[in-house]
Amino acid sequence: MQAPSVGGVRLPKGNGETIKLPRGASLTDFADKIGANPASLVQVLFHLGEMVTATASVADEVLELLGTEMNYNVQVVSPEEEDRELLDSFSISYGEDAGGEEDLVVRPPVVTIMGHVDHGKTRLLDTIRKANVAEGEAGGITQHIGAYQVMSELDGYERPITFIDTPGHEAFTAMRARGAKSTDIAVIVVAADDGVMPQTVEAINHAQAADVPIVVAVNKIDKEGANPAKIRQQLTEYGLVAEEYGGETMFVDISARENINIEQLLEAILLTADAALDLRANPNMEAQGVAIEAHLDRGRGPVATVLVQRGTLRVGDSVVAGDASGRVRRMLDEHGADVTEAYPSRPVQVIGFTSVPGAGDTFLVVDEDRVARQIADRRRARERNAELASRRKRVSLEDLDAALKETNTLNLIIKGDNSGTVEALEDALMKIEVGDDVELRVIHRGVGGITEGDINLAIADNVIVLGFNVRAEGKATELANREGVEIRYYTVIYQAIEEIEQALKGMLKPEYEEVGLGTAEIREVFRSSRFGTIAGCLVMGGVIRRNARARLLRDSVVVADNLSINSLRRVKDDVVEVREGFECGLTLGNFNDIKQGDVIETFEMREKPRS
Ligand code: GDP
Repeated sequence: MQAPSVGGVRLPKGNGETIKLPRGASLTDFADKIGANPASLVQVLFHLGEMVTATASVADEVLELLGTEMNYNVQVVSPEEEDRELLDSFSISYGEDAGGEEDLVVRPPVVTIMGHVDHGKTRLLDTIRKANVAEGEAGGITQHIGAYQVMSELDGYERPITFIDTPGHEAFTAMRARGAKSTDIAVIVVAADDGVMPQTVEAINHAQAADVPIVVAVNKIDKEGANPAKIRQQLTEYGLVAEEYGGETMFVDISARENINIEQLLEAILLTADAALDLRANPNMEAQGVAIEAHLDRGRGPVATVLVQRGTLRVGDSVVAGDASGRVRRMLDEHGADVTEAYPSRPVQVIGFTSVPGAGDTFLVVDEDRVARQIADRRRARERNAELASRRKRVSLEDLDAALKETNTLNLIIKGDNSGTVEALEDALMKIEVGDDVELRVIHRGVGGITEGDINLAIADNVIVLGFNVRAEGKATELANREGVEIRYYTVIYQAIEEIEQALKGMLKPEYEEVGLGTAEIREVFRSSRFGTIAGCLVMGGVIRRNARARLLRDSVVVADNLSINSLRRVKDDVVEVREGFECGLTLGNFNDIKQGDVIETFEMREKPRS
């Protein structure tokens, strides 16, 4: 068989073997893998209608298409898989306890509180936090660090429970989407006076999809009209049958506001954990876990709350979380007290990262600072490549012109004060629907002020920079003004959403609709050396207006479109319009093929208002 060729370019030919390429790989990367000349791949793509330079990041589909063309099975490796390979290359395995059964020790359950808005999630987290003040902690839990641990008693034993202190399932799903399972048990809060609502169902679905056992807290039982029995009844529909009805789910009637039955709820959590889960971890290994919350603190620099899932985290450890690395300088608990060691299921605030990790990023301890730095660097490079690949406009030769003239894409850079809000904002913005004609793309996101780097990135494309509770720093404002980059500041999410939605709608090309004006029947045809062919008409309906657009129908069939009424006369006078029931003479520009009995239909195009 001959080597395949496209447009006369000889192609390197594979035997269907699998080539793994990371997301955002370039043609040079591809060529390296198959021992080909990058220039030939550039040429091939050119003939397939794609203009790409050898070192630019290429979209997944294009890599796959090119592979097919040359008989290679190209697999674009997922970020998770790639990350596993990256850690492998440092002989690190993430996600598993080292050693065997005998190394495992019981650890506390990690709980997320979910449920419909206003059903009392925040209040419940507050009440649980405060209920624990008594045990000697001066001032109780004073800091919101994104998670906290409380003590509860079961069968005479004191046992800790860890609560993720960011209510709502956004955080839960965001972490799950990254493959970080942070939650052992979900408490679904349902207000007894309101009942099962859409987000209740959503929360149940998320928990069940993640295979996380559920405890139901029937809240607001202090309120008039509270009907806890009805909640139990409603939830059977979703597979949650209360124990007292012969099911397996524990329901606890509580009042977060009046502090009723909170101790019972904690007990139910422990009982459910004991019955449904085997929560053990190896504390004798380098710590691994997940970053729950992170922000940039004016005085302390990047501050991240991490949940240790395995091993023990110590001050002095070299750490990496997502693309942030550092060394643990200090650890604080939810009371603001220094901690030197954190065991499995313990959330701690870590100071010492050199940049801000993202919420949901996996976190691990490595042997040396150097390794942490290298892993972080590699991840950052990979993310950047992937970003570039998704940013690159895919321009085929046919529509190169059009694409250059008009890309209906609104590119955004989002900067915010902490990773949770940045993610929430991005999620909300991506959900805006304005149809397929315009597209929203977040090309960069991060925690902290808007920097010159952000503006430089914005200059390249049609980019708006959003600052959520942050401001431009240093010379960024100056640079943005000089380069005409728009920066918008927000402190309220829905306001950002509203304005971006307006901006997207503004980018829509106007849509027009045809509005009929009138019809006229041709009664007589005159030829004039001065005016060409003149139609003597009777206006049958509406009005005939000079310069209106027109089409010609013969026996109800359109025989000519795209005409216009060039001149219009009544008797001998030029007029602007003629109404129903009157006769007139008109010409249709250069169009002369008219007959007695033809019908002229006139109309205009009006811009349709957007809903
Ligand atoms: P979230 O949106 O689920 O976080 O709900 P919140 O915790 O913000 O509570 C919504 C409203 O319900 C607030 O006004 C709370 O004070 C109120 N609330 C919460 N728990 C109770 C309760 O047990 N009883 C009563 N009466 N009101 C409550």
